[in-house]
Amino acid sequence: MTTRIETTARKIASLNPATGELVAEFEPATAQQVEAAVAGARSAQPGWNEIGLERRARILGNFQRLLEDRKSALAQVITRETGKPVVEGLVSEILVVLDTARFCRNQAVPLLVEEAVPHGNWALKTKSGRIRREPYGVIGIIAPWNYPFAIPATESLAALVAGNAVVLKPSERTSCTALALRDLFSEAGVPGDVFQVVVGDGITGSALIHSSIDKLVFTGSLRTGRQIAQAAASRLLPVVLELGGKDPMLVLEDADLEVASSGAVWGAFTNAGQACLSVERCYVDRSLYEPFLAACVRKTRRLRIGNGQAAPIDVGPMIGEHEVQSVESQVADAVSRGARVLAGGARLPELGSNFYAPTVLADVTHDMRVMREETFGPVLPVMAFASESEAIRLANDCEYGLGASIWTRDRRRGERLAGHIHAGTVMVNDAVSCFGIAEAPHGGFKMSGLGRTHGKWGLEEMVRVKYVDSDRMPGRKKLWWYGYGEAFQTEGLIDLMFARRVGHRLRGAWKFLTALKSTERL
Ligand code: NAD
Repeated sequence: MTTRIETTARKIASLNPATGELVAEFEPATAQQVEAAVAGARSAQPGWNEIGLERRARILGNFQRLLEDRKSALAQVITRETGKPVVEGLVSEILVVLDTARFCRNQAVPLLVEEAVPHGNWALKTKSGRIRREPYGVIGIIAPWNYPFAIPATESLAALVAGNAVVLKPSERTSCTALALRDLFSEAGVPGDVFQVVVGDGITGSALIHSSIDKLVFTGSLRTGRQIAQAAASRLLPVVLELGGKDPMLVLEDADLEVASSGAVWGAFTNAGQACLSVERCYVDRSLYEPFLAACVRKTRRLRIGNGQAAPIDVGPMIGEHEVQSVESQVADAVSRGARVLAGGARLPELGSNFYAPTVLADVTHDMRVMREETFGPVLPVMAFASESEAIRLANDCEYGLGASIWTRDRRRGERLAGHIHAGTVMVNDAVSCFGIAEAPHGGFKMSGLGRTHGKWGLEEMVRVKYVDSDRMPGRKKLWWYGYGEAFQTEGLIDLMFARRVGHRLRGAWKFLTALKSTERL
């Protein structure tokens, strides 16, 4: 049974990766349909903005309640399209979104309200300034398939509460999940034109970038992210790019071996290893290397692999044939260069064509592709290090910088080392789960992307900051307008504000006040 996505000229299909069953088939939106959706969103957005932050926050409260009611049915939709265990759909998708709705409902009002900007420039003291956070208008969101609910829903919640309309282009593999999200928003009270879904593939995504959206939030691969950045540059479209990762895990000599090995196995294999933040490179202090490997292998062999709809299951299938081949090719490259396969290392055809056994590799090096390229599958490559500085050097020897984790019984030491890691998030004694903290920013350094989603930083991405400056003395001409006096009088002003000696300040005050009296402003 094949599980390849067939993207014909006018069809995209959602397939169950565990069984190959056709879940649904769609016609991708044309460029004209995308532009029509954006135009509809643009006309509806001012009304949505005008109802105000409090009312929007209440509508998100409705969304939260509806989602809680529908969680079981929605988890089934997610599992049918992605193959992930239903438990993962509930925890890493639905719970994350519920918590983001809670955050937006409670925090958006204090974080997005108008704010005074007190300033210390004495010469401009008559001015009072305020920050207004205004919605961009229409936010385009392009989403991947690996967290087809959590990613677009958390981004949309932030965009909507800030007063924007949203046009979402989901992955061609997970249209049903995106349409379920649309239905939830609509039932919660978000007007239909304010949140729209245009189903389709890369061509549809490209049409969205070239439409009249005001900002784009893209989550996906580095390859597509680069193309998007180039397309956006031509019209200076603001973009947030959430791209790939190659997260290192550093196991120091004082780590709890039992805890760290469980963390490595979960961090590498959750969602069948198809998580941007998954553990992709594991570096272990030489003194723990062999016992750590033995514990990882023992725990990997106990994992229950199968169709995510069957219970209880730990690891589901990968998403498709192309992705399985990519993992196979990285593992083959590693083995040909001397890596040892301690667990897995092959497909599980008896379960279905997309099942790949969770794999533990030992004796890997940075010459191997599995330690340099993103691995979007269940592979845990492990390497020994001799010193803390070597561990940091290896962790940073990578073009990506999304997340990282440090495992030690000494939390202070872990937090200190976090300062040396080039990544957007560093976790001490856990991996991946930071994505579930609604208040925490998510985003990468280096090739892992630009900008942030989640938390107050994610909300700030959804607004234009406008500084409104209002002069308290509207009837007075300003000191710095034409009718300049002698330069030395201006020096007086600078001395008054910044001279180090008190005497110079006083002399500056005198020069300046004299000038003030004698200079006529035009
Ligand atoms: P992808 O880049 O193939 O596709 C992502 C989305 O972009 C899809 O909706 C796709 O249809 C669309 N697309 C493809 N080509 C396009 C084009 N030329 N113009 C506009 N849109 C286009 O990625 P994927 O395979 O769906 O997802 C896996 C990747 O996403 C991995 O690299 C993973 O690390 C990354 N990811 C990153 C994060 C993060 O938060 N940093 C989260 C999840 C996934």
